[in-house]
Amino acid sequence: MAERMLKFVGTPQAMPAKRPAAARRHDFQEIYSAYARDKASEQAARCSQCGVPFCQIHCPLGNNIPDWLKLTSEGRLEEAYELSSATNNFPEICGRICPQDRLCEGNCVIEKGFESVTIGSVEKYITDTAWEQGWVKPITPRRERAESVGIVGAGPAGLAAAEQLRRKGYQVAIYDRYDRVGGLLIYGIPNFKLEKEIVQRREKLLRDSKVTFHLECEVGRDVTLEQLRARHAAVLIATGVYKARDIAAPGVGLPGIAPALDYLTASNRAGLGETVAAQESGVLDAKGKHVVVIGGGDTAMDCVRTAVRQGAKSVKCLYRRDRANMPGSQREVKHAEEEGVEFVWLTAPQTFLGKDRVSHVRSVRIHLGMPDATGRQRPQEIPDSHVNIEADLVLKALGFDPEDLPAMFAAPDLGVTGWGTLRIDWKNMMTSLDGVFAAGDIVRGASLVVWAVRDGRDAAERIHSYLLGKSTAAARIAAE
Ligand code: FAD
Ligand code: SF4
Ligand code: SF4
Repeated sequence: MAERMLKFVGTPQAMPAKRPAAARRHDFQEIYSAYARDKASEQAARCSQCGVPFCQIHCPLGNNIPDWLKLTSEGRLEEAYELSSATNNFPEICGRICPQDRLCEGNCVIEKGFESVTIGSVEKYITDTAWEQGWVKPITPRRERAESVGIVGAGPAGLAAAEQLRRKGYQVAIYDRYDRVGGLLIYGIPNFKLEKEIVQRREKLLRDSKVTFHLECEVGRDVTLEQLRARHAAVLIATGVYKARDIAAPGVGLPGIAPALDYLTASNRAGLGETVAAQESGVLDAKGKHVVVIGGGDTAMDCVRTAVRQGAKSVKCLYRRDRANMPGSQREVKHAEEEGVEFVWLTAPQTFLGKDRVSHVRSVRIHLGMPDATGRQRPQEIPDSHVNIEADLVLKALGFDPEDLPAMFAAPDLGVTGWGTLRIDWKNMMTSLDGVFAAGDIVRGASLVVWAVRDGRDAAERIHSYLLGKSTAAARIAAE
């Protein structure tokens, strides 16, 4: 092993080639090309095969990273794929969009001094190769089970749970209010981070595995939760969080100010070939505009980079803390800066100015004061530090809260936390309603795809135990 691995001293870190920013600014294609076989093998061989792999500990899925790196370095890609897909339903998606700098790669022991192993890029390479080679096959369960499970939400949590349950032979039906499968993977995250064909081939795989989809079917409007409970032996709620946080500032209702997700969804729909009225009319199009995005998370980063690609005149990101304290990935900030985005740190909007539509964001400079109860430095306004920033389009990317599910689902007994997320018993992932489970952002609050996958997998296990328990009890009663 030692001869092949541990190459980090002599072999520098090399990400797959990144397209030049000048070219990226004009299209929505992914920005990294694929590794060539030799390069993937060379980069995987930089791993020092740690006895206690911190990369694995900090991967929410506990992926067996050192072993699949070793197999990749040896060219044993089909085995690497088997191993990687044993713990992750969508390795090629996580490889593309996990914030690796905060998870696996940020905790790789060679990071200090030698730069981490490029874990995400190798993970993506392994599974993209598996798709090309036809190693990714629809599920054929060893035995079919009669019980069906209804899943509300076709985002990563719902899809991961569906795949795991189908493997065990359950009949799985997914309900989603959108017209396409994927949740935020399809309508939130832009194409330049995750091309839509990657999500669509996963949908096809699930359809070929006999998972059924009921699209444009909103639970609470087209079907009730009670009807689903009557139809299925268990129900999983994986509806994500969609209530956009707003700013309580004068002028916030002016035309030209829009929620970030409306803007990103319109852009993604247009990218999928639809004619989107709000984009055609210019309401949600950045072309030729001075764009100001408010916020410092993943959604804000996706907005600024989308605006650049739509041909904005200028793009500024306003964030009230500094670079070191922003929630978004540092890698994304770097990409955005390369593409021409200007970050206005330590600045917060106070008033939106304009007559018929927004023309400027009156903003105030911020000083970071003493830490608050959460340990984060409290932003404090600096008196008389106002600036007017020109803006024809303002996008609010301040995060999301859960919708009021007990009201939406007409289920007053569905327990929620103080944040409005669904309250579950973490031991069995069940909500306050018997046989109703929950997973993903609707439980954690806005989080990450990799956590949604983890939750979906865990929920599938708990649903399986619950249904086994029920059938054992039924058999006992029948025998008595
Ligand atoms: P979702 O993906 O939100 O899916 C929920 C599904 O439920 C949706 O399809 C919705 O239509 C459906 N639904 C909701 N209510 C109902 C109802 N009543 N009836 C029927 N269907 C319903 N994470 C990363 O790891 N990396 C990133 O780069 C990243 N970028 C992001 C960019 C943006 C713009 C946003 C908004 C989020 C990003 N995230 C990223 C976070 C990530 O997308 C989410 O954490 C993840 O998608 C949550 O998965 P989920 O399955 O819980 O919910
Ligand atoms: Fe890293 Fe995400 Fe892959 Fe885990 S799933 S190894 S955190 S890229
Ligand atoms: Fe390899 Fe880094 Fe993981 Fe250690 S921490 S096993 S060097 S990838």
